[in-house]
Amino acid sequence: GVDLALPGLVAEGVVRQAPNLGWNAVPAAELFAQALRDDGAQLPVGSDNEANSAALAQLWAGAPGGARTFVYLSGDIGVGGAVVLDGELLRGAHGFAGEIGHLVVDPNGPDCRCGSRGCLERYAGQDALLQAAGMDPGDGIAVLARRVADGSGAPGARRARDAVEQAGTMLGIALSGAVNLLDPETVVLGGFYRELADRLAPAAEREL
Ligand SMILES: [Zn+2]
Repeated sequence: GVDLALPGLVAEGVVRQAPNLGWNAVPAAELFAQALRDDGAQLPVGSDNEANSAALAQLWAGAPGGARTFVYLSGDIGVGGAVVLDGELLRGAHGFAGEIGHLVVDPNGPDCRCGSRGCLERYAGQDALLQAAGMDPGDGIAVLARRVADGSGAPGARRARDAVEQAGTMLGIALSGAVNLLDPETVVLGGFYRELADRLAPAAEREL
């Protein structure tokens, strides 16, 4: 079969809302199954939020220290989040639990595409991070990671390091709320956070 990992609120095969794709009420699993049938392939198609899928993959592959209760956060265009409690993915009443990227870290912060303001995503998502580093959205995280690793005092390198540390601090603020609420064994940082972990994780830990 096929399982689609989608960046948005997903329930029963339908993407209810994916602000970064501009999708609303898109029956993605059915559309994909139809496209497969058009190509002569009959396969069951499921779908889920991409961070939920990643957290389940992490659980099945073994989370750090064999953790059965953990928070998963991934850096992407936005910030994906998921919660695993006692070896089970936390889904919530409507399947939308774990949207840590839309926890408000600054009520006076910039508008977010979700309709709120000052969400974690506006500081620690890819677009926000590149902007804070004075870079172009097209530059990509690999370029940012190289600048961060550049130990020189060049203004671009300093600004890149400051932007990543700021994102780490904001991650720490959001995570402190999640940690107080959920008491996890560990926090797993995925997506592009892996490439920035050397500078990002210590800033998040300091804030925590
Ligand atoms: Zn938001």
